Amino acid sequence: MIELGPRARFEEALAGGRIELPFCTLCSRYAYPPGLPAPGCSQDPADYEVRSVDGNGVVYALTIVRRRPEQGGDCGIVLVDLAEGVRVMAAYAPGSLAIGDAVRLVSDTAAEGPRLLAQATKSADG
Ligand SMILES: [Zn+2]
Repeated sequence: MIELGPRARFEEALAGGRIELPFCTLCSRYAYPPGLPAPGCSQDPADYEVRSVDGNGVVYALTIVRRRPEQGGDCGIVLVDLAEGVRVMAAYAPGSLAIGDAVRLVSDTAAEGPRLLAQATKSADG
């Protein structure tokens, strides 16, 4: 049973450096985006519990949202397939990642609040 709103809970955990997602105990799937009910899943909040994911995954797709410098500059958006089997969206530094790269998601504090940031797990010279 999840008491705090799932989105608020996700952001609160993220602010503390943890990645926590609702997990449907009926079909053993993580819900992302973290709002409930998850599409195609149980409509009963009692069927969900909060689980932590470690943030290791692989880049599935990425794009760059062009913004003027006074709006914060270009913003990279990446879809990452986590080892836990859920695909999540994160920010990344434009030019730092390619499809298929191994990444680790970390908590990043942006102007608009805590967000996920994807970083390559292998060094550029390795
Ligand atoms: Zn389900």
